Amino acid sequence: PVYLDHNATTPLAPEAREAMLRWLGEDFGNAASAHSFGRRARAAIDLARQQVAEAVNAHPTEIVFTSGATEANNLILKGFAATQTPSVLAISGIEHPSVSEPARQLARAGWKLRTVAVDREGRVDPDDYARALSESPRLVSVMSANNETGVLQDIPALAAQARSAGALFHTDAVQALGRIEVDFRASGVGAMSLSSHKIGGPLGAGALIVDKRVELAPLLAGGGQERGLRSGTENLAAIAGFGMACARAVRDRGRFAQVANLRDRLEQELRARGAVVFGEGAPRLPNTVFFAVKGVAGEALVSRLDREGFAVASGSACASAAPEASATLLAMGVETGLAHCAVRVSLGTDNTFDEVARFLQALARSLGELKGLVAQAA
Ligand code: PLP
Repeated sequence: PVYLDHNATTPLAPEAREAMLRWLGEDFGNAASAHSFGRRARAAIDLARQQVAEAVNAHPTEIVFTSGATEANNLILKGFAATQTPSVLAISGIEHPSVSEPARQLARAGWKLRTVAVDREGRVDPDDYARALSESPRLVSVMSANNETGVLQDIPALAAQARSAGALFHTDAVQALGRIEVDFRASGVGAMSLSSHKIGGPLGAGALIVDKRVELAPLLAGGGQERGLRSGTENLAAIAGFGMACARAVRDRGRFAQVANLRDRLEQELRARGAVVFGEGAPRLPNTVFFAVKGVAGEALVSRLDREGFAVASGSACASAAPEASATLLAMGVETGLAHCAVRVSLGTDNTFDEVARFLQALARSLGELKGLVAQAA
């Protein structure tokens, strides 16, 4: 089968696997130990910290390793909120559940949750953003790139405005990392979340990059690892693999120009077949196409394509257990019926022109069949 669902997760890169194998095989250690085993473990974590820092232009001491971006997002929202008296928290209307759900938890604990509107293309609405900032939020969180549409936000501009309004600005950069330039320092954000498994690293690793002036309470208290912000003996293999995946992502960034060519070819054909491409007028990730063919249910198309040997997603994988329409599309003002037809193709650097051509043939067959069914039912 051909894998076209890289926004859900990515295959493990050979370099990352290699870096992990050492800690799953001959070597082991607790990085807190004073002996040689501990020193080797510490050195491996230091290397990974350096590699992550270099990938996003941050200082190694600003990196807090976590179990993934879900934990990083929870740490910044809840960890920051725990140091404040409840006031206003602002997030965009299209955040991943790992931001919007902790935000809702905070709202139940006395915070005022301000959700910022997006326009029809999925970009943060500048007027509503300004209005939200005028309510003096303590924390603002806006994702760099949306996992479903791939639509990018102007993070440096949004961060600068939030800073002027006295807020801490956080961005979930999970989908941006490795696909477009991500620069912690230059973007002026106070905090940023990353995930390993979206860039060819292992599942179960990620990081919160956070300015050291930001006061945070840990979610997990204990032995004081990760500057006291994330206690627990470090998951060496996963962290080493994450570090190596970051190094590879930096090296391979150029390959996304080729991915954009494949994406363009795909979109051209989709439009010719009458598909709507969501967020098409906005700057987007080079690898993502979120589209719908009116009258053809997304779920049905995904399972038909799966039988043809192509792995794509309807809505986001994380929410696919729930058969609801994409919250991102609804926030963009897409009508519910059309939102139910949405299908996401997310390419990786290993996908080929031939695979995309074969996918388009399979799509044509699938659409022909499913539209026939719709016509029969009508
Ligand atoms: N944020 C975004 C935008 C995502 O796409 C994902 C992936 O599902 C996450 C956060 C969660 O990352 P993780 O799987 O590392 O917890």
